[in-house]
Amino acid sequence: MIKKPLIITFVVTFNYNMKKVLVLGSTGSIGNNTLNVIRNLPGQFKVTALTVNTRIDLLKPQIEEFNPEIVVVKEEKPAEELRKRLNGKIEVLSGIKGLCSVASGCEYDIFIGAMVGSAGLAPTIEAIKRGKRIALANKETLVVAGELVNELSKKYNAEILPVDSEHSAIFQCLAGENINQVEKIILTASGGPFLHNSKNDFLNATVEEALNHPNWKMGNKITIDSASMMNKGLEVIEAKWLFNIAQDKIDVVIHPQSIIHSMVQFWDGSIKAQLGLPDMKLPIQYALTYPERLQNNNLRTNLPLIGQLTFFEPDLDKFECLKIAYAALNTGGSAPCVLNAANEVAVDKFLKGTIKFSRIPYIINKSLEKIEHFNQPDLDIIFQCDKLTREFAAGLS
Ligand code: NAD
Ligand code: MG
Repeated sequence: MIKKPLIITFVVTFNYNMKKVLVLGSTGSIGNNTLNVIRNLPGQFKVTALTVNTRIDLLKPQIEEFNPEIVVVKEEKPAEELRKRLNGKIEVLSGIKGLCSVASGCEYDIFIGAMVGSAGLAPTIEAIKRGKRIALANKETLVVAGELVNELSKKYNAEILPVDSEHSAIFQCLAGENINQVEKIILTASGGPFLHNSKNDFLNATVEEALNHPNWKMGNKITIDSASMMNKGLEVIEAKWLFNIAQDKIDVVIHPQSIIHSMVQFWDGSIKAQLGLPDMKLPIQYALTYPERLQNNNLRTNLPLIGQLTFFEPDLDKFECLKIAYAALNTGGSAPCVLNAANEVAVDKFLKGTIKFSRIPYIINKSLEKIEHFNQPDLDIIFQCDKLTREFAAGLS
């Protein structure tokens, strides 16, 4: 009698559908929230690379938990220190070259742009050239080179999904809709810590006061941008490029509770809004799992407990940065790049205590006046404008 072969079935625990994720800026506020989302959705994502600027003390436990194949530390000195500590167990790269080479060479399905500033542009372009899904928190990338980023994403079939809560809200409101039937996008803004102060108070505003955001816990740079409302200015520009919509169709409304994350008004007068608690885990998860929605245990919004949602117009005279950003978008070309670079320098100076809060718009305006304007800059010109603006703004106070 022929014996039947014994078939042993193994239960495969490794999920081959796990999406591979590269997190740029993993030790920051968005980076940490991204790793929280990944931790809370076991079996869905595998982290293949992590990158940071300098904080290897924060990176080390992330390496132990997520076991990436490669890490990048932007600054060479801490990178060298980490190499010694890891003793060759994981490859450690450094510099902007290192950031670009993980984006262009490492294995991943989703690129999380969670670093701060225009330094995110070059690696994001590498990810776009590979036609990846880009979950983009790093709004400065779209502010400085939105048109070029869009051209490249179209060419290489890359998908840019918003992580910024307002843009995620708009993206969710637009699902199943026709963009040509949109009358306007309404970006909500909390108004930040100085909503109820007068413009005169900006003269003596301290770093501590400016960092004391009423609703959101974020990195220092974006928190200062929220205090000056430059953050909303950058978001108007970001919205223009993410949704390819004319700037006169992008409104800003102050909504101090930060429960409605933004709205879309259609040409029949209907307004759709997306609501939720001020918690970045939700928009991050949506960008990671889109078009699916996965169940989670995040806190739920309790509307009776919130009680009231209020709205009013922003004061553009007080929040000059928002007005300057609208003007730079209107000028177009290299102006948003100059605006962004000057703002990055000014915010850094304010955080270091070398200028007053009220000098931020001054430094931006002076830079916009001084730096040569280009109507249709290519990427080389963008990088050059960024560099020249930083050099010029560094000398202002
Ligand atoms: P953060 O300062 O908390 O973290 C920034 C991360 O980027 C850190 O991991 C840091 O090591 C890294 N980094 C900083 N400078 C770098 C450089 N020059 N080169 C390489 N890496 C660098 O910032 P954040 O609050 O997480 O914000 C990140 C981005 O997301 C910003 O563009 C911000 O505007 C945007 N964003 C943040 C929030 C938020 O809730 N924090 C919300 C919406 C959008
Ligand atoms: Mg936002």
